[in-house]
Amino acid sequence: MSKRSRTDLLSLPPEDLALALETHFRKRNQPIYRTGQVRRWLYEDLSGSIDEMTDLPLKERDALKDSFTLTRLEKARVELSQDGTVKHLWSLSDGEFIESVLIPSKKRLTLCISSQAGCAMGCTFCATGWGGFQRQLTTAEIVSQYTASRRWAEDHLEATISNIVYMGMGEPLSNRKALHDSLSILNQGYAVGARRITVSTVGVVPGILELAERPEQFRLALSLHAPLSELRLGLIPLEKRHPLPEVLSALKHFNQSGGKRITFEYTMIRGVNDALELIAPLVELARSVDAYVNLIPFNPIPYQNWEPSKNHRIKKFAKILNEQGVPAAIRETRGRDIDAACGQLKAHTLAQLEKPRKQKD
Ligand code: SF4
Repeated sequence: MSKRSRTDLLSLPPEDLALALETHFRKRNQPIYRTGQVRRWLYEDLSGSIDEMTDLPLKERDALKDSFTLTRLEKARVELSQDGTVKHLWSLSDGEFIESVLIPSKKRLTLCISSQAGCAMGCTFCATGWGGFQRQLTTAEIVSQYTASRRWAEDHLEATISNIVYMGMGEPLSNRKALHDSLSILNQGYAVGARRITVSTVGVVPGILELAERPEQFRLALSLHAPLSELRLGLIPLEKRHPLPEVLSALKHFNQSGGKRITFEYTMIRGVNDALELIAPLVELARSVDAYVNLIPFNPIPYQNWEPSKNHRIKKFAKILNEQGVPAAIRETRGRDIDAACGQLKAHTLAQLEKPRKQKD
């Protein structure tokens, strides 16, 4: 079999993987339990190579390598923050870079993963947006951020990942086949509970509607950042294609599709989107879809001279939202000393090495 037609073991949802392995081993007159052996190596032992699957006879490992591959990410850089946040910069087989971030807290270890190399959305407050789009990630490249980070966390932090957020580089709902397959693998293969996995979007309406159709209770975060269309348009260009009223109607559908929680992410930028008059429309939007609001102080990025809102303004937003019956919290900025916000490590690395690939006017 040619190398080009080999299937990555991390690219198939568990049911499809079982079928593919059963077919493979049946053709080789091997017992059916070989399928279970491979699945255990992948999902329980977090194996990064077919050669590690030592309870398969050598001949069977070689035959498996003739038909399948197994993506393993190369670590290009790892940065540890004083607050415990850990950022990995991974180098892909074609030389692209992606990031993932481990965020420990008292009760959780959250992994933030990327869904694309770069991003085409061009949000003006985001380092990834300034860098432009390079390519879609494959399912295996998404899943292997989890396996590689989990291995690292178990070795270095003696902790396991409890939550996953698709909030790294890229818009996950613009890479839907890989997103949906990776959700199935993480949930059914690696047993990460659906309610512990959050998909974040800037408002790709067809993707929200598609996610609503899944029976699992994956969570959704909308990068809102402004409660009014005109203001939001200056932060998120996608607002032009999918304006807030259309996004809201998709969110209502998502909300009504059974126990699925929605969060609004609101990055607070001084003098841009932190006027007190914006609280009333924000309350109205959040109430309409039972959303929880995360207020996030803006994390400065290399190509933009905005500043985070003052602390007292952020607290005021949180207080009024809570008084109005909208649950809201201030999300502390983590890993600022290691550029842990989306796209920043790559942006700063590229800024040191070269000019950014895409300069905006
Ligand atoms: S905020 Fe998300 S969607 Fe917007 S440019 Fe950054 S990575 Fe892309």
